[in-house]
Amino acid sequence: MNRRATHPVPATLEPETHSDSPARWWRRSVRARIPTLDPARQREENRRVLLNLIWCERQISRADLARETGMSRSTVSAITAELLETGLVVELGVGSSSGGRRPIVLGFHDDGFGLVGIDMGASHIGVVTTNLRGEVRSHLSSPHDVRQDPEGAVALIFSLVERALETSPFSLAHTLGIGIAAPCPIDPTQPSRLSPLVLPAWQDIDLPARLTERFGRPVFLDNDANMGALGEHWWGAGTDCQDLAFVKVATGIGAGFVVNGALYRGAAGVAGEIGHIVIDPEGARCICGLRGCLVTQVGALALKAQVEHLLQMGHPSQLTPRDLSIEAIVTAAEQGDALAVDVIRRAGRQLGIAIANLMNLLNPDQVIVSGSLTRAGRVLFAPLEEMVFGRTLFSARSKARILASPLGESGVALGAATQVLAALLEGERHVFPVTP
Ligand SMILES: [Zn+2]
Repeated sequence: MNRRATHPVPATLEPETHSDSPARWWRRSVRARIPTLDPARQREENRRVLLNLIWCERQISRADLARETGMSRSTVSAITAELLETGLVVELGVGSSSGGRRPIVLGFHDDGFGLVGIDMGASHIGVVTTNLRGEVRSHLSSPHDVRQDPEGAVALIFSLVERALETSPFSLAHTLGIGIAAPCPIDPTQPSRLSPLVLPAWQDIDLPARLTERFGRPVFLDNDANMGALGEHWWGAGTDCQDLAFVKVATGIGAGFVVNGALYRGAAGVAGEIGHIVIDPEGARCICGLRGCLVTQVGALALKAQVEHLLQMGHPSQLTPRDLSIEAIVTAAEQGDALAVDVIRRAGRQLGIAIANLMNLLNPDQVIVSGSLTRAGRVLFAPLEEMVFGRTLFSARSKARILASPLGESGVALGAATQVLAALLEGERHVFPVTP
């Protein structure tokens, strides 16, 4: 077909039609990528690039920085002088020469500053301190009814952070920031508000503001499964992949996604709420108002209720209703307790259905499962994989790995701390120890 005949070029261009383009997001992204000619912004961008290169390479000379980035030697010298002043970068010594004067090698000061990460679960609080390479320096954890007792939870967070800093090599003065992982979605339009649906008792509490007031450090808040995904992507099983799903199985069940190398949060911050995928439309009522959500079958409360019910029915088991916990159920299963094994296998099958759906939808490289239930090993994962195998498209599962989180119980807190490091490497100036 002759396109010119059906779509003649207009004689005059009408600029107002441009703003009406259906792909307005593309126009915004083009505008965001226009290179800046503003010298101050250009210098910030150069600083960000050099800081990241030094962090990634660990050891690099000024000459190599100039070679790798195409910046002039004088620009590199001026910016690295600023970075040395912040204390984030140090001179490590004299490197080898390829002819001429031996260069001074620069390095990132991994242990010069620390990060704090807080994992606020529904029924526990964990705190880690780490260096700037994600190495955990102290880790404390304490059970607490976070949903019902917010003031007690805030007091416990304060005391755990203070104690974690006491046993860590970093003082508060050398802490760049505090990251918190919360057990609920965070709406990006209200980034310091906890979900009224999941944590109704917290509605009058601005947790980031309380932490900033107490510790005087930048505070970052995000959802716990997102932080688990971030932790695995930076330091755990996902350091080599661009697409992963992290599934946290605890009192609640949530997933965090890294898509194309970045966290995927969804339009209102609720992406990954797989705990509310309906497994049984006739099932029990969930806190979200729906029926038969995954969490009503596989959440910690549901598993304990199932064990209690089976005990009442007279099934033999070493478990007793008095001291029921996920840990006790897993330990019983490890010792061959038939009731505990049955309950965990059933949970594995149901999780498998949800994970199969997730894999068909997102096609991740890895699905990393976390939570104390994963200690059950093959008792959980064998039925889970069997379900996934029967319900996923071959192409979605052929390369994907399903595995237990290698970071274990400190992974979410580590991910929370990583938010601070990510902000630093993004060049967010309020995180720098000395404003460059
Ligand atoms: Zn639900």
